[in-house]
Amino acid sequence: MDDKTFFIETLGCQMNIYDSAFVAEVLTGAGYKQAADAAGADIILINTCSVRERAERKALTRAYELASRRSGDPDTVIGIIGCMAQRLGKSLLDHGGRIDLVAGPDTYPRLPALLETLRAGRDPVIDIARDPGGMYGLRPGGHDRVTAFVTIMRGCNNFCSYCVVPYVRGPERSKPHREVLDEVGHLVDLGVKEVTLIGQNVNSYDDGELDFGDLLESVNEVPGLRRIRFTTSHPKDLTHTVIEKIGSLPKVCEHIHLPLQSGSDRMLDLMNRGYTSGAYRDLAAFARTAIPGVALSTDILVGFPSEEARDHKNTLEVMEEVGFESAFMFCYSARSGTAAADLPDDVPEEEKVRRLKQVIALQNSLIDRKKRCMPGTTVEILVERESQKEPGFLIGRTRKNWLAKLPQKGVRRGEVVTARITGVSRWMITCETVENQIGA
Ligand code: SF4
Repeated sequence: MDDKTFFIETLGCQMNIYDSAFVAEVLTGAGYKQAADAAGADIILINTCSVRERAERKALTRAYELASRRSGDPDTVIGIIGCMAQRLGKSLLDHGGRIDLVAGPDTYPRLPALLETLRAGRDPVIDIARDPGGMYGLRPGGHDRVTAFVTIMRGCNNFCSYCVVPYVRGPERSKPHREVLDEVGHLVDLGVKEVTLIGQNVNSYDDGELDFGDLLESVNEVPGLRRIRFTTSHPKDLTHTVIEKIGSLPKVCEHIHLPLQSGSDRMLDLMNRGYTSGAYRDLAAFARTAIPGVALSTDILVGFPSEEARDHKNTLEVMEEVGFESAFMFCYSARSGTAAADLPDDVPEEEKVRRLKQVIALQNSLIDRKKRCMPGTTVEILVERESQKEPGFLIGRTRKNWLAKLPQKGVRRGEVVTARITGVSRWMITCETVENQIGA
């Protein structure tokens, strides 16, 4: 392999972070060496996201920027992988910059062969073949993190009308639970304390033997693991049984990411979300009762086609009623190939932005209200890393997923500590350590 080096730049969601780790494992296994940064790497892969138009523009800009900088070594390979590669395929070669490789998410196990083909010929290599049953697991060697993602499912069957994921990631399939448990056990052996089980819709996990609640119970039994998180939940598939298990299993953190998207039944129907605003509110209320202190986070999409002022008002009302601990908030943009792209994108851009600012302002006030009463209370923190901005401080997360900062004194990365909150800002809580927990 002539000591060829590769660098992967990852954009987008947790699925891409996991996939990039898998690609790194495949390439390392084939004899390539991972470079610390893009400068000087022989192969640069950009793992892309297609969910929003802005994400695609960002990825393209970055790919062409890297392609234009390659003049120092014209043999450097620039590849676009991931959802955008799957969605746009060959057309990615038509934008002026020289892209050598385009590979979709189902092709990663054969990336070494694709790179060999590229070396042997002169033309760009494109592989966006689908593998509807494809599922891969990770057995990384040099994992040095305290937390890790574990993909339990790939693909999605829901076809929300605004979303490209089912088209680029294919149909839903679940990783056999024995492979999930094997992967979690392996990560714990490498020092991982917290795993996040990821999939587009984890609540529909079904490997033919276990459903999602059963899987949570099994992962909860893995010795040495301290915490379990999971994302993303779909409101139509999250059951009371699973909520009760989240509340009763000690390692499962009290946090559910439950995308609302809109508080208007008319919008939810047009979005093909499969639940009503009332059903969502009932589910959130049940979670608040069954899991004391649970944190609920969400996604909000404003300016969907035909959204009127009253639909927007419904969204603000549900946000206020549920009192989300955090939210990802976006303006709608049409994605070609989706059902919503056939609807007139008729909410003026400035109105979308105005509504987005309103939901952001409301969400910020909800966070401020929640955090106001936190100083003086104690929380459990898993210490993840040293602070880059403030030497002498460590950064971790509470079980509810609040970002927390605490003095380094007597505490090490990977430890679970009980800490008292001494100060809060919107995005961070400041703590002092009360005790290091046994078994950390
Ligand atoms: S559940 Fe809906 S929004 Fe989520 S990935 Fe599937 S289609 Fe997209």
